[in-house]
Amino acid sequence: MVDSYRHKGMRRQLVKVVREKGIEDERVLAAIGKIPRHFFFENAFLEHAYEDKAFPIGAGQTISQPYTVAFQSELLQVQPGDKVFEIGTGSGYQAIVLLELGADVYTIEYQKELYERTRRFLPSMGYKPNFFFGDGSKGLPRYAPYDKIIVTAGAPTVPDALIDQLRVGGVLVIPVGDAKTQRMLRITKTAENKVRTESFDNFKFVPLLGADGWRK
Ligand code: SAM
Repeated sequence: MVDSYRHKGMRRQLVKVVREKGIEDERVLAAIGKIPRHFFFENAFLEHAYEDKAFPIGAGQTISQPYTVAFQSELLQVQPGDKVFEIGTGSGYQAIVLLELGADVYTIEYQKELYERTRRFLPSMGYKPNFFFGDGSKGLPRYAPYDKIIVTAGAPTVPDALIDQLRVGGVLVIPVGDAKTQRMLRITKTAENKVRTESFDNFKFVPLLGADGWRK
């Protein structure tokens, strides 16, 4: 697929829209401006790739709205070299943003079809996070602790396992609520058994499934 001047122009426009909605982190905006989001879309839908909207990617799932990706990425305050665990690989777009921010990315997906597709597709774009298949609601204890954890599906509650797998000083960004709307939370692990929770805007995500998510 080609990344033309027209696509680059549309991307600049998207960055402008996301900035106007309140995103200030220049590194996050640069990543949105760099990643060819149209590579994730089938030909028939290419025109929609640079709208600030979520879009179906198959298996009943979506590529998140660019503003939402930027909002979560900004809250996560990724530093180069951070070990970041993402729950909900989906299309892989968010994982690429994290890689562009200099993170070492571990990402897990619950839908086999998406896991297989994204695991093949991202390396073809030159991006290589560590891919895992399975239920991320219990975390990924084998590689813990993480500096940052990001959940890209709506959870009914904050899974304890995710707090356990954060290092002290680490940050978890997770949307929590009911099926209709979720509140974006940023949880900082301030000591071994202590957290500070900040609550931001409302969002609408597909459900986090699994043992510590919504049951199928
Ligand atoms: N980060 C994705 C992107 O950039 O395209 C957004 C994907 S979508 C909003 C949320 C994803 O979470 C879906 O692909 C869904 O299958 C996945 N998911 C839901 N529950 C999960 C779980 N327990 N473990 C891992 N992935 C899960």
